Amino acid sequence: MADTALTKKITKAVDDGFDSQLKFTADLTRLPSLRGQEATAQDFMARAYRDRGLAIDRWKIEVEDIQGLPGFSPVAVSYDDAWNVVGAHRPKAPSGKSVILNGHIDVVPTGPLDMWTTPPFDPRISDGWLYGRGSGDMKAGLAANLFAFDALRRAGLEPQGEIYFQSVIEEECTGNGALACLQRGYRADAAIIPEPSGTNLGSAQVGTMWFQVKVRGRPAHVAYASRGSNAIEACFPLIKALHEMEHRWNEKGHPAFADTDHPINFVVSKIEGGDWTSSVPAWCTFDMRIGIFPGMELADVRREVESTVAEAARKDNFLANSPPDIVYHGFQAEGYVLEPGTAAEKLLEQCHLAAHGKELGRRIFTGTTDARFFGLYAGIPGLVYGPTSHDIHAFDERVDIESIRLTTQAIALFIADWCGVKAT
Ligand code: ZN
Repeated sequence: MADTALTKKITKAVDDGFDSQLKFTADLTRLPSLRGQEATAQDFMARAYRDRGLAIDRWKIEVEDIQGLPGFSPVAVSYDDAWNVVGAHRPKAPSGKSVILNGHIDVVPTGPLDMWTTPPFDPRISDGWLYGRGSGDMKAGLAANLFAFDALRRAGLEPQGEIYFQSVIEEECTGNGALACLQRGYRADAAIIPEPSGTNLGSAQVGTMWFQVKVRGRPAHVAYASRGSNAIEACFPLIKALHEMEHRWNEKGHPAFADTDHPINFVVSKIEGGDWTSSVPAWCTFDMRIGIFPGMELADVRREVESTVAEAARKDNFLANSPPDIVYHGFQAEGYVLEPGTAAEKLLEQCHLAAHGKELGRRIFTGTTDARFFGLYAGIPGLVYGPTSHDIHAFDERVDIESIRLTTQAIALFIADWCGVKAT
């Protein structure tokens, strides 16, 4: 690790650039990069990469290019405006190790605007927090990656290994953006993803699967409701059976999640059905997100989902002869446990200690991140390490400003040591 004088020089350079880093983060948060609307924010990132003299690779994701790869998730939406951006720092004669600094540009929907204290895409700073949808998850991280690099240059240091800055889409629904980077050929000796991990290192994460259950009923006038079969109410026992499956999995547990309360969560997250208040509904469709322990095979999980739904449906007079359909689109993501004790992890521990003045903690994720692509499919340690954020995917999402500063320092120190630096 960098000696004390160099460490001081680098951390000071982060501090010197921090006002503009915060402004950059707020400007990026202002761009509503919801799914399918990421292009403007990706333009912003591409400009930022270009301004720093990085080589830009900006491409549209094509389903055909990635659908045969492990980790692919099927999609029901168009990729007509689905752009990934990579900025590459390529030293003339690379002598150090390489690193991928990855982040996702996509943000989740805001929900009802009246539940926000101030508008979600009008970022504001209050009591040491930066508020806004995507501020913590994870535009602060995308900015931290870039400003860590800026700090080294401000300190007169040029990294001697390749650095790939990746701004990807689709993290919140499929991971196909990170997968497209792998398909494109990007590899490095380590990857850092500054997701809001509370300045901890993500040591394990569950997998995630999305599916949709389509239930049919038999329509009838409500005055003769017993002649019909209510598709909406028929969903209740199916959902109950799926929650029993969730319960079984949590009971069974997984060694990496031994200290985690209720790591597996099944959530009915969307539901629609019926056409008319005085008609017995003939259809209902619900969407569910389920968590999966690392090591579980996706095909086995799908089989268990299907048999659970089929068994519950057999107990219903109508559904027994008209079984529900199950459709998979969105996340088909395996769980991931970070291989402990790699050189990258050890270095991050030292850099964290130097920046924060305390030991690096570990975080177990009961959601997924793009780290799985690096770890499971490319043999690259995927280090999830980023600032502290509250209420991500909820109202008044915010990120702790001091935690951004310190994690940026740690990332800058990591780059300096991992890639090596030469005075310019
Ligand atoms: Zn995220």
